[in-house]
Amino acid sequence: MNKPTVVSGIRPTGYLHLGNYFGAVRNFLRMQEDYNCYFFIADIHSLTTHPTPENLQSGVKQVLAEYLACGIDPEKSTIFIQSDVPEINELYTILNMNAYLGELERTTSFKDKARQQPENVNAGLLTYPVLMAADIIIHKAHFVPVGKDQEQNLEMARKFAKRFNRMYKSKVFPIPKPFTFDGADLVKVPGLDGSGKMGKSEGNAINLFDTEKEIRKKVMRAVTDAGPTEMNSTKPEPVQNLFTLMDIVSDPEVVKQFDEAYAKCEIRYGDMKKQLAEDIVAFTSPIRSRIIEILEDDAYLAKVAKMGAEKARESAAETLKEVKQLVGFKKLF
Ligand code: ATP
Ligand code: MG
Repeated sequence: MNKPTVVSGIRPTGYLHLGNYFGAVRNFLRMQEDYNCYFFIADIHSLTTHPTPENLQSGVKQVLAEYLACGIDPEKSTIFIQSDVPEINELYTILNMNAYLGELERTTSFKDKARQQPENVNAGLLTYPVLMAADIIIHKAHFVPVGKDQEQNLEMARKFAKRFNRMYKSKVFPIPKPFTFDGADLVKVPGLDGSGKMGKSEGNAINLFDTEKEIRKKVMRAVTDAGPTEMNSTKPEPVQNLFTLMDIVSDPEVVKQFDEAYAKCEIRYGDMKKQLAEDIVAFTSPIRSRIIEILEDDAYLAKVAKMGAEKARESAAETLKEVKQLVGFKKLF
């Protein structure tokens, strides 16, 4: 009866892309049967990059529809919107008291964002790992399926959970572990702009919601080079990225063919890109059709969000009650 608990979320900062799918959502789907799953839309987290109210609202609706279209089942998993669960903010405030400036400043995601948006280095960006810890431990999660880019933030969540337990001499929080199937490494899906990860805010993403035409255009524009000149040479990063994407969506036989062609200096990037685009389209187009269908059904989306909010609040409120007692908040009336 007691299934291990799983929590993971995605920021509603744009359309879901292949990185989100293969880094996170694919594992969500596989976990639904055997775990007690909470999958949320991290709308509070997205405020760090100052979306307009309209963009925030449409982003939340889009990710909700995309979760459902990918196959997350609201009867099996709790799907909710982060801001519908105010208990998370309370736990965040409490955890913030034991999160230190030095360690927060040292996180890679903070340093990256501070570099990318020097005009907006806000306190929310600094304490992002604390809010993420609150998201996870408020449901007493055992596992967190995330992509490689979140490894360090998850390490921080583990640290904050341990610190709270130690400080209040309790075992209230299990220490959450990153999750992949069969002990595989966490996934990093590259962008097609030569280096780095595919990301919503990176402007390099292939979205599940992209049309066939958009996908073909994006793939054909991918950065490559003049081609190898020596047999069996190592692939430079932009070319390796193309292969990594192909590994994810294409038939292994097809990948092998291009790999061999590369080793023999016979690779034709144009052909490879065409094949890659077709394989991506074959994967995304049924999902895209379902997203369109679901987006039209506001009543269904509202029902799913309400059901999820109720379930998530119940679990969050239980944990928060324990936390408040441990901290020493006593009711005088
Ligand atoms: P943003 O640019 O706004 O931060 P994002 O594309 O990084 O958006 P997030 O909402 O931050 O997406 O992340 C949601 C989940 O998707 C996380 O589990 C994250 O690890 C995973 N993820 C995001 N990008 C990739 C990627 N390129 N490869 C693998 N996993 C990824
Ligand atoms: Mg991100």
